[in-house]
Amino acid sequence: MPEELTAEELEELTEEQRDYIEKVVSLFIIAYAGRLIAGHGARIIKTVREELPIIKSVQKKAGVEITDFKPGDISGWSASEVEFYRRMLLDYGGTYIVKNGILEFKDWMRDLQPALIESAEKVIIQAKQFGYTPQVLREELLKALGNEYNNRLYVGAYVESRVIEDRTKRELYADTGINYVVWYTQKDSRVRPTHQERQGKIYLLAECPSLGEPGCRCWIYPYTSKNSLMISTGGPE
Ligand SMILES: [Zn+2]
Repeated sequence: MPEELTAEELEELTEEQRDYIEKVVSLFIIAYAGRLIAGHGARIIKTVREELPIIKSVQKKAGVEITDFKPGDISGWSASEVEFYRRMLLDYGGTYIVKNGILEFKDWMRDLQPALIESAEKVIIQAKQFGYTPQVLREELLKALGNEYNNRLYVGAYVESRVIEDRTKRELYADTGINYVVWYTQKDSRVRPTHQERQGKIYLLAECPSLGEPGCRCWIYPYTSKNSLMISTGGPE
């Protein structure tokens, strides 16, 4: 059996040993953060991959300079993303809570049998990776949970996925010099009246409402024109 270190011996740690311990501790912290953003990273990558060609084509059409964006820039977001995710869970609910730095399903979710929790978690992660529509997400959760299906889980999972998409688009637009977005609805009878009013409306990026509302299928599209780049206050022409 290995001997335990005495207090004196602990104090005699070399600088190298202390560095080693610090490294191990920070690795633990990174692992927790990794758990926190499980499925989150994939949603970011998917959104970036889809959005970059759109930004390029919008800039090209407007005749403005096409901004270079390196995928490596995303790594700079990670710390703020983790913090944002924490806040999002507080503000919007979501399916998880953070307890002592560990991601856990909400109490009512943990009442489910472990096997069901596992299948629900799988669906939630896939929903983020593939950007499930509300309909597909609900169907997949119904398949995974059967009689134990819970609408609160569906709402939480959908909002989470959409908030990540929304947040990623905004960071990407800001990094590529896009200052305005256009709001689009699905233009069918299921669009809520408050969102119908936003159809085709141009917003200053910072003032555009969030897409993270339960069941909302609207999307935002980058907007730029030679004129809009010169406007510092107020909307574009
Ligand atoms: Zn909507």
